[in-house]
Amino acid sequence: MSVTRHTKVLIIGSGPAGYSAGVYAARAMLEPLLVQGIEPGGQLTTTTEVENWPGDTEVQGPDLMIRMEAHARAMGCDIVGDIITSLDLSKRPFTAQSDSGTVYKADAVIMCTGARAKWLGLPTEEKFKGFGVSACATCDGFFYRGMEIAVIGGGNTAVEEALFLTNFASKVTLIHRRDELRCEKILEHRLLKNPKIETLWFHELEEVYGTDSPLGVEGIKVKHTKTDEITDLPVKGLFIAIGHAPASELVKDQLELHSGGYVNVEAGSTRTAIPGVFAAGDLTDHIYRQAVTSAGMGCMAALDAEKFLAEQD
Ligand code: FAD
Ligand code: NAP
Repeated sequence: MSVTRHTKVLIIGSGPAGYSAGVYAARAMLEPLLVQGIEPGGQLTTTTEVENWPGDTEVQGPDLMIRMEAHARAMGCDIVGDIITSLDLSKRPFTAQSDSGTVYKADAVIMCTGARAKWLGLPTEEKFKGFGVSACATCDGFFYRGMEIAVIGGGNTAVEEALFLTNFASKVTLIHRRDELRCEKILEHRLLKNPKIETLWFHELEEVYGTDSPLGVEGIKVKHTKTDEITDLPVKGLFIAIGHAPASELVKDQLELHSGGYVNVEAGSTRTAIPGVFAAGDLTDHIYRQAVTSAGMGCMAALDAEKFLAEQD
């Protein structure tokens, strides 16, 4: 028999936005309930050093998220290990069905489902996913000790992953489709002066190849974007770091989206077009996408929800 739980504020997601909303909503005595989802702690649990979280010159991403969770709990936020599978925003209280079978009813909802890694969509990338092809250097870098690795992408994630992978790999090749990186300058500087890293500009992944039994990567073929010339790289590991897509599946038919799936919020607030539904963090933000901006929006969402609920009373 399914259990139904009612809450004033349901927070969906446990990244910096979700936990910050949890802290603020709990301190507003709203007794929030936060559902963590498949990735408790969110994207920062897939990285190592975070150097731009104010107050910490350097902090490990997973440690920071454990601290945020503990903080939200200590303030009185009820944190549940569950996944929301569908959400009905057509009437209040809003209804969320979950993987555990529990039905959550909420007077206000704060969506903080963030974003997740994008893939190139090549059949051979799919074939070797988890067997030499990865989107998380922190999770899988250790498997490639003393081996050659390639990273695809030219943003902060790709450059950070390439730098991190030099801890394990004999050589890292960063492959980018242009000759200009879009990462922070400090990261670019570190990348270009790292003797273990080689850059391959104007190239795109054409194919991953390897053995079938056991399944494993033996190399990749990359194509020059201007000349179509194919280059073969004998790498054992390939890390795809080409960005992230917003996790807006739960609301894609109910809320207005922009820029390929980000939830629209009223400028300067976290209000969506549905009164009582708020959105914060990477789910709404295709520009900044930072832990600190997500946390800031989580705070705003809790304050917006508090105001909304007070007006209902
Ligand atoms: P996320 O962190 O994406 O969390 C989303 C949450 O939603 C997850 O907990 C997930 O389980 C949950 N969720 C999703 N779907 C459901 C569902 N159906 N039901 C319930 N829950 C659900 N930013 C920095 O400021 N500094 C850095 O150094 C930095 N390094 C990074 C390194 C990497 C490798 C990556 C990928 C990102 C990095 N970022 C960094 C960006 C930063 O991680 C994000 O901006 C931030 O985590 C976004 O927070 P968020 O709360 O919006 O969402
Ligand atoms: P991103 O900034 O969107 O960069 C994606 C990179 O992948 C770009 O260089 C892009 O190339 C390339 N790319 C995209 N699609 C491709 C395709 N189909 N084929 C080949 N290359 C492709 O994504 P991100 O690096 O994951 O960063 C996401 C957000 O998290 C950013 O806001 C970033 O600042 C933040 N973040 C911050 C930190 C930090 O502060 N230290 C660390 C990690 C992430 P083009 O350049 O040609 O478009």
